[in-house]
Amino acid sequence: MHTASDHPTPSLRWCVAGAAWMIAAAWPAVAASAPLQVMACEPEWAALVTELAGDNAQVYRATNALQDPHRIEARPSLIAAARRADLLVCTGAELEAGWLPILLQQAGNPRIQPGRPGHFMATDQVPLRNVPKALDRAHGDVHAAGNPHIQTDPRNIELVARALVQRLSAIDPPRAETYRARTTDFLLRWGQATTRWTQQAAPLKGLPVVVQHDGFPYLEAWLGLRQVATLEPKPGVEASSAHLAGVISQLAQQPARMVLRAAYNDGRSADWLAQRTGLPVVVLPYTVGGNEQAGNLFALFDDTVARLLNAAATPPVSP
Ligand SMILES: [Zn+2]
Repeated sequence: MHTASDHPTPSLRWCVAGAAWMIAAAWPAVAASAPLQVMACEPEWAALVTELAGDNAQVYRATNALQDPHRIEARPSLIAAARRADLLVCTGAELEAGWLPILLQQAGNPRIQPGRPGHFMATDQVPLRNVPKALDRAHGDVHAAGNPHIQTDPRNIELVARALVQRLSAIDPPRAETYRARTTDFLLRWGQATTRWTQQAAPLKGLPVVVQHDGFPYLEAWLGLRQVATLEPKPGVEASSAHLAGVISQLAQQPARMVLRAAYNDGRSADWLAQRTGLPVVVLPYTVGGNEQAGNLFALFDDTVARLLNAAATPPVSP
C-alpha cells in the first residue's frame, strides 16, 4: 500500500490543478498517469481501497487501529490529506461526526464534499443495525444514527466493495477495467474466505458475550453470538461503578463466556469485570493493524475467528 501521510504537496501544483478543474470540468478527474488520491478514515477502508485499486491509488489512512474513530482531532496533516484527495472513503453513520465535518470544512476540497462522487460512506451500502426510531444524542450516545461498526462482518465488506468499485470507476474512468478486474478477483477470494470463517466459527453459535463498547452487533449477527451485557451504559459513555455492579448481578442471572473489546478500547473496565467474574477478555483487532497478526483484511478475520474460538475452548475459571 502507498501511504502518503507526509507526502509534500507544492502549492504550485495546486494552482495548476485548480485551474485545470475550472477550465475543463468535463475532463476526467484524475490524470491518466497519476495515482488516484484516496483518503480513508479508518484502516479497514484503506485496506479495501488497496485491494480494489492496488498501485493505482495512493491511500492516506486518517486513523490507525489503536485510535478511537469516534474521537479524532482534525489536525493539520489530516486537513492537508483531505485537500489533495480525489476520493474520501469513510464509515459514515456519524462514526466520524466529531471530526470529519470540521476536516471537510477546513480542507475546502469540493471533490470530497457530501453529495459529490468523491464522498463515499461505507454505511450507505449496508443495512444498519440498531437504528433508533428517533435521532437522540442525549447523554453522549455516539450511535444516534444506528450502529456504525459494520466492518466486523465480512459480508458487509463485500457489499462495500461492490459499491466502492463503481465509485472508483466513475471517478477514474480510464482505469475502470482495472478496478473491475481486481474487484472480481478480490470478491472471489473473499467469498471463499468468508465461507471458511463461517464454518470455522460454527461452534461459537449461541455463545453469550459481554462487550465493552457496543461495537460488535454485526459480528454477533454473523456468528450468532448473544450479547448479554455492555460495560458502557450508553455507546461512548464510560462505565460507572454502579453500572458495573449492575452488570455483575445481571451476569449472575445470565452467565456469559467472555468479554469482548476492541484493541483501541481502554481495557480497564473489561479487566475489572474479568477479575470479578473469571471471564476471559478477548481483545479483537477490530480493524486492519489492530494487532501484529491482522495485517490485511483477510488476516483480520483469520485472527478474529481464531481468538474467539480460542477463548470459547478455554474452560471457565472461578474468580
Ligand atoms: Zn461506537
